[in-house]
Amino acid sequence: MSGEHVLICVAWPYANGPLHLGHVAGCYLPPDIQARFERAKGNRVLMVSGSDEHGTPITVTAETQGISPQEVVDKYHEINTKALMDLGCTWEPNIDPRGPEFGGSLFNRTSDPEHYEIVSDNFMKLMDAGLFERKVMQQYYELREDGGRFLPDRYVEGECPNCGAEGARGDQCDECGVTYEAHELKNPKSKMNPEASIEIRDTEHFFYRLDFFQEVLEEHAIQRQGVWKPNVKAMTKQWLDMGLRPRAVTRDLDWGIPLPLDGDEWDGKCIYVWFEAVQGYYSCAKLWAKRFSNSEDYEKWWKISENGKPPRHLYFLGKDNIPFHTVIWPAIIMGLNHANKGLDINTPPSLPGPRDLSLEDNVPAMEYLMLAGGQFSKSRKHAVWLPSFLERFDPDTLRYYLSINMPEAHDTDFNWPDFVEKINSELIAAYGNFVHRVLTLGARLPDERPLSTFDNLSHCTDEMEKLETLHQHATSSLERHRYKEALRTIMSAAQLGNQMLQAATPWKFLKDLDADGSKESMAKLAFGWRLSRYLAIMTHPFLPFSAQRLWESLGESGDVALASWDSATDWTVPYKWGESEPTPLFQRLDLEEILSQEKSLAGEASDSNDPGHSVKGGKKKKKEVKKMPEGTTHLDFETFMEVELRVGKIVSVSDHENADKLYVVAIDDGSESGRTICAGLKEYYTADEMVGKSVVFVANLKPRKLRGIMSEGMMLAADDGNGGVKLVTIDGDIATGSQVR
Ligand SMILES: [Zn+2]
Repeated sequence: MSGEHVLICVAWPYANGPLHLGHVAGCYLPPDIQARFERAKGNRVLMVSGSDEHGTPITVTAETQGISPQEVVDKYHEINTKALMDLGCTWEPNIDPRGPEFGGSLFNRTSDPEHYEIVSDNFMKLMDAGLFERKVMQQYYELREDGGRFLPDRYVEGECPNCGAEGARGDQCDECGVTYEAHELKNPKSKMNPEASIEIRDTEHFFYRLDFFQEVLEEHAIQRQGVWKPNVKAMTKQWLDMGLRPRAVTRDLDWGIPLPLDGDEWDGKCIYVWFEAVQGYYSCAKLWAKRFSNSEDYEKWWKISENGKPPRHLYFLGKDNIPFHTVIWPAIIMGLNHANKGLDINTPPSLPGPRDLSLEDNVPAMEYLMLAGGQFSKSRKHAVWLPSFLERFDPDTLRYYLSINMPEAHDTDFNWPDFVEKINSELIAAYGNFVHRVLTLGARLPDERPLSTFDNLSHCTDEMEKLETLHQHATSSLERHRYKEALRTIMSAAQLGNQMLQAATPWKFLKDLDADGSKESMAKLAFGWRLSRYLAIMTHPFLPFSAQRLWESLGESGDVALASWDSATDWTVPYKWGESEPTPLFQRLDLEEILSQEKSLAGEASDSNDPGHSVKGGKKKKKEVKKMPEGTTHLDFETFMEVELRVGKIVSVSDHENADKLYVVAIDDGSESGRTICAGLKEYYTADEMVGKSVVFVANLKPRKLRGIMSEGMMLAADDGNGGVKLVTIDGDIATGSQVR
């Protein structure tokens, strides 16, 4: 369906540290893929999220580091916003390029004063409708000269009443996992100020009447049975089966939204972070409309229409957050609907109808991405951090790996060997090589007979049919939030392209375009351009950076993001061709290099407070500087390692038609397509002497055209400067493509 209003709600990252890859796989990459896909389908997408900036973990960090909570959140809001943008998440531009009627996005923060206003307003509405109850609780209180303060649970430490572990928190023991009432903790102490005496005092708070919504929430969960994933259904049911109880929405803390109430008794209390941050999905849409469109436009993404059609709400979050979004948040939304209609606690609540705020359609929550078998953890510093990852790698490699490895149905694992393997042998071998082959072979055609002149779809009906089926499959997978499956389907289309070229062998006809069979073979190569265009459009939600590079290499103009998803299978779009010389879409990765980098980063991180990287057992290596004889210019090791040397076998050697001294050498380099190198070896070797030799070549030399033929690298040879030139060959059998170092 096209033109539908889709609200994409992304879990709000907590501004207390940098994001790690576990967060990205679980919460931040899937919604971006979905948003890009929905937009390409012609839907009107508004994507909302922002930094969650209140609560005690932030005040604890601030007190520990001796800075203000504001400094903590300012720092991580900036770091995380930048990391998400660098990852290609579409938080900019705020307005869809097709206009605000198509939506846009806003990555806000909960410290926004207008978020305060909206939350305070909602608080009063719910209170006036009688949906809060007041209760007295017991809370630890730290006595001080200046009057003292209430201690949130995280500020209290003691011995666990269950297992006796030291360092148990005020409400929960991390060692054995039990939760308890604050007064049950043994030997309680103030964490920040262990010398201070503490006591238990009464404190009054507001509780939201979740129990009031028990039945409508059950009804809602039943209605969503066909849509929700098994883990979402199960966790929601578990919560509802336990029976809902009123839940505290205020607490004793001054870092948060103050209670919108008069009276000294509310001083030092704020709205509980869980209750206000979740309202960010709503406030953010309202503020987006106010700032980038018309104020009332938020209703298109939030309210059910007069005739009962709801906007489609998708919430992206990790599995630990499911009941929050299927039970608690719907209860708040229904409370607001109730209050907006002027009803109170004396009238039973009902599911939303026309003109009401809408509930979630789907909550495609993810399982966890593990790091080398263990859970990613901010506090234990067992993580790979997003900002530092993006400093070193093409973001599309991460997007590819996390998508093909997405923890959709069960936990998955991130480890470096698997990352390198999947990038090199899947992304590059299937997709990267196919499009590069099409572009480089196409570039070798003479100017007067460009590839477009061979475009003849009648030779490609089989391929067209298969690709259309794959397109349907990928579409259906994306509609069901099966990202892994969708990406695998798209990669199989690239594989089909490789097989097509392998069977058609167009390189054989480049020298004689009028030979028998050339027309059919070249028609396949020409269709390769159309298939590459298909791949640019379909990989775009997953791999936006490389899709755009490919789009431009193909001669297409503008932003691939604006190409219609369904036009991928339009085989009649006018044929174009890029001006620039084709370059590979991706760089191969080297595992050993990455592992040694990881080790040194882990060492650096352990030497400073900055949570840069962490790998168990990583130690900083001492840099040794060896003295060298004077007069030698040194190349540092990193620079040397940038040269990629590989083993290739010479398959065939022919004369270069336009250059007397050059051979055109076809090399089996271990890839499917092989490569061509122009070499000035005619004076030293006959063609027959060269064929069959295993040689060493520079694999990452920038390809360049030598008199009309693209040369992709350079073979190494020894030169005595006296007319003697000998190729560097390999001593014995080894696989082509092997690295030389
Ligand atoms: Zn315990």
